[in-house]
Amino acid sequence: MPIRLLSSEVASQIAAGEVIERPASVVKELIENALDAGARSLTVTIAEAGRKLIEVADDGAGITSDELALAVSRHATSKLTRADDLFHISTLGFRGEALASIGSVARMTMTSAVAHSKAGARIRVEGGREGRVEAIGAPVGTVVRVEDLFYNVPARLKFLKTDVTERRAIDALLTRYALAYPDVRFKLAEGNNVTLQTAGDGDRRSILAALYGVDVARQLLEINAEEENPSAGQAIKLTGYVSPTAVTRSNRKDITFFVNGRWVQDTPLTAALVQAYHTLLMVGRYPLAAMFVEIDPEEVDVNVHPAKAEVRFKNQDRIFGFVQRAIRRGLLAYAPVPSAAPAMWGGAQGESSRQVGLDWTLAHDEQLTVNGGPLTAPSESPTTNHQLPTASQIPLLRLIGQIGSTYLVAEGPDGLYLIDQHAAHERVLFEKLMAQHDMKKIPSQSLLTPVVVQLPPASAKLLTGQLSVLGHFGFEVEDFGSNSFQVRAVPTLFAGGDPSAALRAIVEDFEEDETPLQNEIEKKLAARVCKRLAVKGGQTLSSDEQRALLTDLENCDSPRTCPHGRPTMIHLSVDMLERQFGRKGAR
Ligand code: ADP
Ligand code: MG
Repeated sequence: MPIRLLSSEVASQIAAGEVIERPASVVKELIENALDAGARSLTVTIAEAGRKLIEVADDGAGITSDELALAVSRHATSKLTRADDLFHISTLGFRGEALASIGSVARMTMTSAVAHSKAGARIRVEGGREGRVEAIGAPVGTVVRVEDLFYNVPARLKFLKTDVTERRAIDALLTRYALAYPDVRFKLAEGNNVTLQTAGDGDRRSILAALYGVDVARQLLEINAEEENPSAGQAIKLTGYVSPTAVTRSNRKDITFFVNGRWVQDTPLTAALVQAYHTLLMVGRYPLAAMFVEIDPEEVDVNVHPAKAEVRFKNQDRIFGFVQRAIRRGLLAYAPVPSAAPAMWGGAQGESSRQVGLDWTLAHDEQLTVNGGPLTAPSESPTTNHQLPTASQIPLLRLIGQIGSTYLVAEGPDGLYLIDQHAAHERVLFEKLMAQHDMKKIPSQSLLTPVVVQLPPASAKLLTGQLSVLGHFGFEVEDFGSNSFQVRAVPTLFAGGDPSAALRAIVEDFEEDETPLQNEIEKKLAARVCKRLAVKGGQTLSSDEQRALLTDLENCDSPRTCPHGRPTMIHLSVDMLERQFGRKGAR
């Protein structure tokens, strides 16, 4: 095919594709513009999850009528003049692309008025075609109305997710911006339904509650740190909230970073945060965080990606170290020393370390080393000689005791077994629950006093959809309105567990896979609840409890892994012990 120049329409649709991917991207660009214009109050109205309508009204500086046409053209911006300016950007926008992009894939009307002008003005852009600028009465500020997003790009339309998902993305975006700009009033409405409204009084706690639910928000720890810039520029500041080690998620989705007022994703900052929790959380668990970094604009490159969601730091190591130390320090200041890993804290003293009889320095996520090499669990290195027998059953075990309040030690005919009590209990609960479920009779036990659990709005919606599945598992849960639920009965297996923890466990990870097969949902739910309610590491068990756990585990169909696939036990064979002690074959 011959080479041809793309028509401007096609070229602008291609460019738009990089910026406007879904309704939430429109919302993002429009609220960034409003914030750049100094808005103190910002109202977002959507219909049909933003497909039909997204309107953003602000009380910012506005645009004069003679600049309105320019504002909607590509590469027109008031925020940047020279290429040099790119390296000290203090506004959210700078590419001059957003309005043009939106106008090329939707029907957009922009109405704006500046202070002390006689009238406002309005312009309409439809599929990239600009109308004329008309004079019209309007209050100071700007209203951008975007209708029928992607009406002329059917391929894009097909890639949109369900309304629930698209709406959730908008919700999440707005709540996070509200958190980053607590002095600005934000309102999000769909029809008569106001899903978010903030006071703009600078108080972040109430916004955190909207994002994470009241219970979690109350427990978050505040971080406030500052470090001089060695090259005499502005100091780096880190403020925000992180979860205590007891509040975790199974993924990083609840970790949010803003850099100079910009929400950034995929940053090394997330890794720095996770590092700060090293050894404090179980493997595969992640903290929640909403962190705000202020750094000299000279130190960051914001021009990395058309959607402006990524940044690069001039001195990445320095900021990484700063964030990690600041959060670690914050955690240590608040958090009690976890009993299972006293030595991780450089000989921390206190109650919790004394209950461990020997110097038990093995943390959850550390590997036991023998002869300098890691002694791995069978699933990780199938070729080593100290692995479990291949039959799925485990031999009868003689209990020796518990160590570190975390592991059971037992002797089998072929050596020593170390059993992770949490993983083992998870497995036991899971198999019992699934067996009862398969026989369609899960005994359930009414709570003496029903428990009311409040969830963040998005999780509440999810849970509402899963109430019947919960019913199959012996939970009796009723929608109580305003994102709260009443738990009246729980499966007998879990009597004594914390019902609210169980509910939370059920909803927290359901974001990605919205409609897995029913059968899969049930298994997943069961695994999740079992994990949450299983006995934890660090919990001292009586010898009866230890023995019961061991017997239950022996009776499991797949005793060697927890329902999530982690090993429940490590086996040190007689053969291996003999080699290690030089009794055999060590020539
Ligand atoms: P950018 O934000 O990168 O400059 P946009 O296409 O988003 O590019 O906007 C183009 C210009 O229109 C902005 O530079 C700004 O001058 C003006 N503008 C856009 N939205 C608003 C608003 N809500 N209030 C005032 N001016 C606005
Ligand atoms: Mg912009």
